Parts: sequence; C-alpha cells; structure tokens
Amino acid sequence: MDTGAADVQTILAEWLLVQKVSLDVLRLDKVHHVVSGNKLFKLKYYLQEAKEQHKESIITFGGAWSNHIVATAYASKEAGFKSIGIIRGEKPPVLSDTLFKAMEFGMQLIYVSREVYKVLKRDPEDITKLTEFKQLGLSDLHKCYFIAEGGYGITGTKGAAEIGHTNNLSAYTHIIAAVGTGTMLAGLIRSALHTHKIIGISSMKGNLGLRDEVLQLLPTEIANHNNFDLIHEYHFGGFGKHPVQLTDFINEVYRDHHLPLDIVYTSKTFFAIKDLVGKGYFAEGSKLLMVHSGGLQGNSSLPLKVLAF
Ligand SMILES: *Cc1c(COP(=O)(O)O)cnc(C)c1O
Repeated sequence: MDTGAADVQTILAEWLLVQKVSLDVLRLDKVHHVVSGNKLFKLKYYLQEAKEQHKESIITFGGAWSNHIVATAYASKEAGFKSIGIIRGEKPPVLSDTLFKAMEFGMQLIYVSREVYKVLKRDPEDITKLTEFKQLGLSDLHKCYFIAEGGYGITGTKGAAEIGHTNNLSAYTHIIAAVGTGTMLAGLIRSALHTHKIIGISSMKGNLGLRDEVLQLLPTEIANHNNFDLIHEYHFGGFGKHPVQLTDFINEVYRDHHLPLDIVYTSKTFFAIKDLVGKGYFAEGSKLLMVHSGGLQGNSSLPLKVLAF
C-alpha cells in the first residue's frame, strides 16, 4: 500500500465564506478504488503482527456491505494470507457487490445468524464449532489470526495514526472524521498536535459508549489532553440508514464540488460540517480538515440512478 500523502481538495462555498471558515478534504478515498481509505491504514499493523506470528489465515467479522470485510480480503491477499470472513446474517440469494468482491480477493465466507455472530464476536475461537469452518480444513487454529469487527483495537489505532503522520495536518485547527468503532478517530487523536481539536461524527444512533471505547484505545497522557469531541446528532436514523434527504445531499455535494461521498459515513460527516458551520460552531478563522475515509464501494447497495455518480 502506498502511504504517501493523499490529495487534498479545498472546498469553495458561500456557506464557508460567510462564516470565515475554510474547509479542506483529505481524499483517502482515492487511495484505492475498491478498498476504502481508512481500512487499509487500520489493517496495516494487524497484518504485520500476523506475519511476525507466522500465521497463515486472517479471520474477521462484518455485515454484507462491510468496508472492513472487503478491505481485509484485499489486504490479506496482498500480504499472502488466506482470509475468512464471518458474515452476519443468512446468505442472501443475490450476493452483495461487497461480498462478491471479497470473494474475488480470495476470501472464504461463512454466513451465521445474528445470534451466532454475537457469540463469535465475543468468543472468536468458537468458530471451530461451525461445520462450515471444519470444512475449510484449517484444523490448526494457531495458524489463524483474528481481527475484530471493523478492525477495532489499539493495533488498528497505530495504523490509523499514520493518516496523520503521512499527511501534513499542522495548518489546520480542526480535524473532522466519521466514526464507527472509533479506531480511526483514536489514531487521528494520537497523531494530532495539542492545538488540534478532533471531532468525530458518529454514524450510529445513540452509541453513547463510544467515548469510553475511544479512550480505551489511547495512552493516558494523550487521553488526558481531552482535545476531542464526539457528536451524535447526525446519524440520519441510524447506522446503514440513508433517507432521501441524505442521498439528495450527496448528489448536491457531487454537483457543487465533484466530491463523491458514501452513504454510511462520509456523507453524514460532510452534512454535519455544513450544518455546524452554518450554526457558527467554529470560530472565525478556523481551518477545518475533513478526512474522507472512503467507503464508496458501499454505495452500490443503492438502486441504480439514486446517485449521480
Ligand atoms: C469503517 C469506516 C469508518 C469508521 O472507522 P472506525 O475506525 O470504525 O471508526 C469511517 N468511514 C468509512 C468510510 C469507513 O469505511
């Protein structure tokens, strides 16, 4: 993976001008056309650790449209591992594009009910009890390396911190990013300057345990700076929900700025920025950076023609 600096796009709009605030977008979505930007960063050190431990297979968890699943399939293949995806829910009659691509990257998929999924998330090694797993012939669990759903964990945070290390963020006052598990945000916090304010826009509804989950990923001295905020008001109905208001907004942003956004994460974040700027949330002279964390592959869950790109 290329960890050079990503493109930065400056957004020119009246809603920014009137508040005397600037906005740049760090285009991690351009890092790879299928695999979303932040996932490759988060996976880097998990895969390195798996190599060091002489593992042969990577096992991880996700839903049918998971950016993490497809990214893990791709990155595992690149690094010479077999990969296994435990997919939440019954096998759909028509495979999602995400699952199809994951299979193209060589991932073997095992579908489990939501109940079993919950159990496996807690006790991943119970996977050996599944018939489908036995059929894969990976009898030796010691050769398997588990990555949590969404790549949550300190090792993921270390990789995400490289977003901040490989791009020069010193000119900005605020770094704003979408939040799922909080791993990327913790990485951004780790790599930020004390003077930065880091703002996470949660894609989920009422995920109020998030702050603690982010804090758990941070060394105490960094956690103590307390220079981050989580905002929970822009979930648009919840994770995976994308009302017409949101898809219309995505089309509007694409029309005005040629900036493609995804329906799960980055569209909610861009909407939040616009709304907060309009409400005077940021002081005059603030220099905002939005991290475009990718995820565009998930847009193919929409019917054709809903989006203009
Ligand atoms: C996974 C993902 C996120 C959330 O990352 P976390 O580290 O889980 O908070 C944000 N944006 C996109 C596009 C993603 O795919």
